[in-house]
Amino acid sequence: MKLPDNPRFATVCIHAGQEPDPSTGALITPIFQTSTYVQEGIGRHKGYEYARTQNPTRSALEANLAAIEGGRAAFAFASGMAAITAIVARLRTGDHVVVTDNTYGGTFRLFDRVVTRYGVTFSFVDTSDLVATARAITPATRLLFVETPTNPVLRLSDIRTLADLAHGRGVGLVVDNTFASPCLQRPIALGADLVIHSTTKYLNGHSDSVGGVVIATNDEDIEWLKFIQNSAGAILSPFDCWLVLRGTKTLALRMAQHSANGQALAEHLERHPKVTRVIYPGLPSHPQHALARRQMPAGAGGMLSFEVATPDEARRVLARFRLMALAESLGGVETLVCHPATMTHASVPPARRQAIGLSDALIRISAGIEDVDDLKADLDQALG
Ligand SMILES: *Cc1c(COP(=O)(O)O)cnc(C)c1O
Repeated sequence: MKLPDNPRFATVCIHAGQEPDPSTGALITPIFQTSTYVQEGIGRHKGYEYARTQNPTRSALEANLAAIEGGRAAFAFASGMAAITAIVARLRTGDHVVVTDNTYGGTFRLFDRVVTRYGVTFSFVDTSDLVATARAITPATRLLFVETPTNPVLRLSDIRTLADLAHGRGVGLVVDNTFASPCLQRPIALGADLVIHSTTKYLNGHSDSVGGVVIATNDEDIEWLKFIQNSAGAILSPFDCWLVLRGTKTLALRMAQHSANGQALAEHLERHPKVTRVIYPGLPSHPQHALARRQMPAGAGGMLSFEVATPDEARRVLARFRLMALAESLGGVETLVCHPATMTHASVPPARRQAIGLSDALIRISAGIEDVDDLKADLDQALG
């Protein structure tokens, strides 16, 4: 198998990084469930010494994900949080990081409760506001950490503009691309230095694995990530690597359907009399619709949120879903609904929730890839 010179996205997803197994010809990369590798003699081995350091299933996944994101190397970790930890572990006392204010709750907790213990400081700013972001950068700033679209109010940040800003000030740009997936948004092509994913979500896509990845573009970052992955050891297991590899084979197909269903449900909800507000970047009513079309040209994704009249009404609606499952997480083939104010964002103080536009009457949907008419029917019966 040889990839064409300029393979298109779906082809890259299916083939990059994977060769038939040299010992058997197995088409699919095996799960190399081993802790160590026999050496022919002292210092004579096949490039594999110990499975924290190297594992062929992990190498195949990492090569695949690096190609999918358009980066030079990827490093797979035990969770999205472990991937983010590997990046911030490089910071030193006195360093400063500018972060999207409405970042994933686990990221906020890691930065605010753990990394600050080492004398690193963080400014949480609205990175959709270029002026505010520029103002937050100081001579001590090392990283600009951006999440777009955000959870659950789906605010976008302009990656290309932020990359220019960061690089002009000697700051590295990290983009958490979990919500969009590389199928819909390509941060490295827009100037990002590092991309992270919770592979738990769209990359694996089947709600049966927890993992994370960092994709890097420059030598220094690659050197560090290789070192910290081995030194701190939060590696993704061979079985989970195999699951994510299986997931990426259908990434292009799945994202097309997630996006189509997200768009259709958003339009359906916008017409529903019981719905007071719909937030979806693919709707012309979204304040950053033009940016969404530019930055996510293949579709606005599977995440959408809507509001009903009161928090009590939101609870009643959430209790009535039949097909859609009430659960945290996102990005799987099955549609999930949640109540961010009491579930994913319960630890965010009410005043802060209000500041980012997250009302207690807001319901978040992770649109799966079921038949959209069944999803619409479930929404209609739940809204009563
Ligand atoms: C889930 C998620 C994470 C954390 O990933 P885990 O795999 O749960 O550790 C980080 N960022 C975003 C945007 C997420 O949705």
